[in-house]
Amino acid sequence: MSTNSYADAAGRPISLTAPSGIDREAHNRLDEAWLAAAWSHPTTRVFVVSGGQALIDDTPDGRTELVMTPAFEAPVTETHRYFLGTDEDGVRYFALQKDALPGRMDQSARPAGLREAGLLLSPRDAGLLVHAVALENWQRLHRFCSRCGERTVIAAAGHIRRCQACGAEHYPRTDPAVIMLVTDDEDRALLGRQVHWPEGRFSTLAGFVEPGESIEQSVRREVREEVGVEVGEVEYVASQPWPFPSSLMLGFMAGATSSRIEVDGEEIHEARWFSREELRAAFESGEVLPPYGISIAARLLELWYGKPLPKPGDVV
Ligand SMILES: [Zn+2]
Repeated sequence: MSTNSYADAAGRPISLTAPSGIDREAHNRLDEAWLAAAWSHPTTRVFVVSGGQALIDDTPDGRTELVMTPAFEAPVTETHRYFLGTDEDGVRYFALQKDALPGRMDQSARPAGLREAGLLLSPRDAGLLVHAVALENWQRLHRFCSRCGERTVIAAAGHIRRCQACGAEHYPRTDPAVIMLVTDDEDRALLGRQVHWPEGRFSTLAGFVEPGESIEQSVRREVREEVGVEVGEVEYVASQPWPFPSSLMLGFMAGATSSRIEVDGEEIHEARWFSREELRAAFESGEVLPPYGISIAARLLELWYGKPLPKPGDVV
């Protein structure tokens, strides 16, 4: 298979990986005069992010969008203003990080995190929210300099933290993680249940890339460690930002060269090979719960399954 054989299927809309239509304009982040002018422009839109959540609302025509206000109506917090970018119409977007979301603006506006909002929002709004949440998580966890231990301050419209004691600049972290659907020579898929997951929740295997390791090595090591299965061919499919708190999920299809399962019992409690027929029956009966809708795990599984995954109670 060529490297791009999954590209069409992987490129279908999934909110956290679809093109968002936003130009991040990184070159303007250090230009305070430009940022001030962008902030005060009448078309600029602002939303509040707090604790990984933002307000979303349903529109009369059945869409769901981020609740945004013009900048002049926004509660200004100079120190926690993130510039996110400009869309194709020239509208600029900022997120304000606050200790709490504003009170409900109307009856239907409600707080939502990425797991819910990612399924409902347009690619543009989902892209803005994932950017803001990732910055918020990083800011929250990096208030002190990792070089000298002194406090850091926000800079570059939320994209740098600077240490005033030693001058170090710290940039947002993105931790690479691999997530892989392992298949065997009978084209069955290997799914596992993590120790802390509820009964019936199965998904693809995943793990963090370790220092000094290529991502292909990481895929093979994680599968061997978690379920004792050996992997040969590893093929990249797609990636997904997963800011819980700062991961980038790199999705793969992985070909097993052995089939005997021996779970580690520490991360994976249970693992099984499923044929398509077995998976369909298990989903429909409710014996197995599918992965979260926004996760790339669901996409990898759907790619192998060949069509949208069946849901509990589906009639064949
Ligand atoms: Zn320092």
